[in-house]
Amino acid sequence: MTIKSKYVALKNYIPLGLPKEIDFEIKSRVLELNDENNIHVKNSWISVDPYMRARMTERKNYKPPFNIGEEMEGYAIGTVEQSASRSFNKGDLVFNNNGMRDNFICNGKDLKKINSSNLPIQSYLGPLGMTGHTAYIGLFKYGKLREKQTVLVSSAGGSVGSTVCQIAKMLGCKVIASTGSDEKVEWLKEELKVDHAFNYKKIDNLVLHLKETCPEGFDLYFDNVGGDFLEAAIFRMKNFGRIVICGRISQMNVTSTPTGLKNMAHVLVKRLTVKGFLIFDHENDNEPFESDMKKWLTEGKIKFKETIYEGIEKAPKAFIDLLNGKNIGKMLVKI
Ligand code: NDP
Repeated sequence: MTIKSKYVALKNYIPLGLPKEIDFEIKSRVLELNDENNIHVKNSWISVDPYMRARMTERKNYKPPFNIGEEMEGYAIGTVEQSASRSFNKGDLVFNNNGMRDNFICNGKDLKKINSSNLPIQSYLGPLGMTGHTAYIGLFKYGKLREKQTVLVSSAGGSVGSTVCQIAKMLGCKVIASTGSDEKVEWLKEELKVDHAFNYKKIDNLVLHLKETCPEGFDLYFDNVGGDFLEAAIFRMKNFGRIVICGRISQMNVTSTPTGLKNMAHVLVKRLTVKGFLIFDHENDNEPFESDMKKWLTEGKIKFKETIYEGIEKAPKAFIDLLNGKNIGKMLVKI
């Protein structure tokens, strides 16, 4: 029996600047189950994530470039439609890295069964998935988060950032959140109960704003954006503060060579710890993250929002809109 798969492919590499919809194409191919690839999965949710941008250039990175004209990869949740494998049955819900397509066949090696719970299945792409895991590992393992400290979070209205804010609030921390729209500011203040949220696009002097709103300075800065914001945060760190370098989205699409930090003297004089990390090094460190997060979500201690685009054809737009800040919480594509 043959299966038609529709998928998103990159038409050309994008060395600089924001990707455009014409850089992608929707293609299809016919798949056939065989003795080796004997499982057919139909995806229902696809994740689009900032790290994919790095795979759209030919530059060496921690993951290889996408192959032009071929299926792009990414995290997804699907259902087993047919299986000749003893390990998977029709109807199983599975997490996989074969996103950006509606159907695929495989041998099951890289599928992970999802145990049904009271939480929506797509939360395995958000708070219970890679972005929640990133917030958790970044805060506890690298940020050494402690109770009642003062924490600054950038891209706080996104998937990682909103989870970081809420975990820090649970520990009684004072949380200062930066984001790029008034709607996200409202959500952070009213629902997530951060201590101060602001729209960085409306701030003329970031260092001054951080000083006025949090004169004591920051124990921890969870950096999702890099660039000028990182430099401003360094100016406002307390002695022995920690900076977790999680992302550099403000630099991902620049069209000129980024300039370096001009205030490294503050790192020295304040004896700061600056630590980068990649969640891909922690793919097997699922506990205690999963049990803590399931508990927090069930108890309503962690809330999450999703921005959902419908149809595989919308995946390129969803990705571009993610880079442009059109998402609140996790950006997802529903098939
Ligand atoms: P988000 O849900 O936060 O979405 C991306 C957001 O980035 C946009 O919504 C936009 O929000 C913001 N943004 C875009 N351009 C700029 C800019 N020039 N300056 C400031 N903010 C900008 O994505 P994720 O939660 O998935 O990821 C957040 C960060 O974490 C990213 O940098 C990502 O690369 C990183 N990451 C790192 C991982 C790791 O292993 N280290 C793993 C997963 C994610 P706004 O409205 O605020 O501008």
